[in-house]
Amino acid sequence: MEKPDYSDWLNKRKEHRKLLNPENLVERIRRGDRVALAEGITLIESELEEDQEKGRRLVALCLPYSGQSIRIGITGVPGVGKSTFIESFGKQIVSSGKKLAVLAIDPSSGISGGSILGDKTRMQDLSVNPNVFIRPSPAGKSLGGVTKKTRESIFLCEAAGFDYIIVETVGVGQSETVVKSMVDFFLLLMLAGAGDELQGIKKGIMEMADAVVINKADGENLRVAERAAIEYKNALHLFHPNQNEWIPEVRLCSGLEGSGITDIYEMIVRFERNTKLKGWFDVNRNKQSSKWLIEALNEMILDSFYDDPDCASRLLSIKTKVLEGKLSPYAGAEELFAHYLKKRHEI
Ligand code: GDP
Repeated sequence: MEKPDYSDWLNKRKEHRKLLNPENLVERIRRGDRVALAEGITLIESELEEDQEKGRRLVALCLPYSGQSIRIGITGVPGVGKSTFIESFGKQIVSSGKKLAVLAIDPSSGISGGSILGDKTRMQDLSVNPNVFIRPSPAGKSLGGVTKKTRESIFLCEAAGFDYIIVETVGVGQSETVVKSMVDFFLLLMLAGAGDELQGIKKGIMEMADAVVINKADGENLRVAERAAIEYKNALHLFHPNQNEWIPEVRLCSGLEGSGITDIYEMIVRFERNTKLKGWFDVNRNKQSSKWLIEALNEMILDSFYDDPDCASRLLSIKTKVLEGKLSPYAGAEELFAHYLKKRHEI
C-alpha cells in the first residue's frame, strides 16, 4: 500500500507555528486580527514548556498597549440569565460604537467534571458580531491557574483594542472574589425569589458588588422584582461605604426583553467618569497589580519548595515526628526551612 504523504501538511503546520511567535502575534493582535487574539490566548493557556515561554513574551509585548478598557465582572447563579443579559448588554455596547470582549471563567469545569458555560449555545447574536470577541476559559485544574490566564487574556484583548471586557463567572463560591480582583466594576446578577430575597447569596458577595441587578423583571415577575429591589437597597445601606465613594446601586432589568439595559450601561459610564475624576479608578488598578505581584511571588516560592522532591520527602518525615510528639510544629517548620535555604545556596 502506498504511504500517505504528509509533507504538505507538515510544511503548512511548520509555517503556522512560525507565525505563532510572540512578535508576529502581537503585531496581528494590534491590527485587530481576532484569529491572532484567539491563538495568543491559546498560547497563554498552553501547558507546554516552550509555549509558556512564548506566552510570557507575548504578555510582556502586549502590556504597553493594555489598560485602556473598562473591565466588568458579571456573576450570578446558573440560570439567573447571565448569557441572556450579556447578549442584551453587549448589543448596547456595540451600538454605542464600542468593541466588546467576553471572557468566561467556569470554575466548575475541570474540578467537578461538567461545564456549566460550555453546554449550550450562548450569546448567539453577539458571537457573530465582528466587534465582539467571546472566549470561554478552558477547564482548569485549579481556580488559580484559570485566574492567571484570564488576567493575562485581559491584557491581550486590550492590546487588540477592545473597549469593554466582561469577565463572566458562575456564582458558586470563591470565583466571585477572584473576578472582583481583576475588574473595575463588579455586577451581581440576581433573581427575585418569592419571600426571602436575601437567601442564598452570601453577604460577603453582596458587599463586593458595585451594582446588584435583579434580572427577569418582566411579566408577572415585575412586581416581585420591584419589592426585592427595595429589600436589596435596604440591605446595601447596612454595608460600609466603598473607599472609592461609589455607592452600590440596585437596578431592575430584563435581559430577555431588554428593559433596564441602557440604564445599566449609563450607570457604568458614570462609574467610570466619577472614579477616574477622583483618581479611584487607578488606585483600584494599582492595588490589584500589587496584589497579583505578591500572589504570583508567593505561588512561585511555594512551588519551589514543594516541587523539590527532597524538601517534600523531608516534610513527610518531619510531619511524622511532629505527630509522634517528638518535635514541635514550629521547630519542624524551622528545620525544613533551614534545609530549603541551604539547598538554594548550593544551586
Ligand atoms: P445563565 O445560566 O445565567 O447564563 O442563564 P441564561 O441566560 O442561559 O438563562 C436561563 C433561562 O432564563 C433561559 O431559559 C432564559 O431564556 C431565561 N431568561 C434569561 N433572562 C431572562 C429575563 O430577563 N426574563 C425572563 N423571563 N427569562 C429570562
